[in-house]
Amino acid sequence: MTVGKLYLCPTPLGNLEDITLRVLRILKQASRVAAEDTRHTRKLLSHFDIHVPLVSYHEHNKIKKTPYILERLLAGEDVALVSDAGTPGIADPGEELVREAIGNGIPVIALPGPVAAVTALSASGLTSTPFAFYGFIPARGKLRKGMLADIERETKTTVFYEAPHRLLKTLSELAGMSQKDRQVVVARELTKIHEEFIRGTLDVVLDHFTQNPPRGECTVLLEKKVEKMEINMSPEALVDELLATGFDKRDAIREAARRLGVPRRDVYNVIHKKK
Ligand code: SAM
Repeated sequence: MTVGKLYLCPTPLGNLEDITLRVLRILKQASRVAAEDTRHTRKLLSHFDIHVPLVSYHEHNKIKKTPYILERLLAGEDVALVSDAGTPGIADPGEELVREAIGNGIPVIALPGPVAAVTALSASGLTSTPFAFYGFIPARGKLRKGMLADIERETKTTVFYEAPHRLLKTLSELAGMSQKDRQVVVARELTKIHEEFIRGTLDVVLDHFTQNPPRGECTVLLEKKVEKMEINMSPEALVDELLATGFDKRDAIREAARRLGVPRRDVYNVIHKKK
């Protein structure tokens, strides 16, 4: 007997128009839909006139429910997995089921669709490659301290999820640990009526949210840490020195900018003006 397929189906972050035609077709055709919150998903499915049996699969029953879902898949049923919003398995239940399915030879089909981290990153204005995704920062304890320290040191653009009532605390802890002029972006209520991006240095964004207490769903992005080296050299002299050691011009400008902790464009402009 052929086994069924496990379909990972992203759902809207807020705007119902963001569900894809393919996700709707798979949800209609699946034998059952495994959902984080069956009441929430039933409403979504009813909106699209989809009536498929639901099975609950959430953080607190996932260990118990995995064997049942695997059994259905092994019996040849197609199962669609959804979370409350966005992509299942991304800071949402799903990872364990995917691993178990792979281990049991069940095809896992990931459908593309909304994910808050990537939606926010694309419009953040920060460097998008490379980026590091941290999911949620633990609310307290050693794990929280450790993760904040990792984020503070991160040399990639960092994306994480934060509850609105913890946003101020997290931003002020980061501001206390890090360069206050590091850029941060808070993407709030993505795809919804009150969507907004608050951009600025850690200090400025912290000040904004102190005046306007955050509400709704927030995704936070932090500029990578720029290690500024103590160099008592002008950009021209540094580029000349690098050229003398065998760098070509483009790489010399890039390296000088990195060492001086300034944008590449600034070094380029200085060198250009010299001519
Ligand atoms: N699986 C989801 C995804 O693909 O993005 C993430 C689920 S996680 C439980 C929920 C968190 O995602 C929220 O607390 C918030 O940080 C972020 N998020 C979800 N919807 C959002 C939105 N509309 N705007 C900004 N952030 C959002």
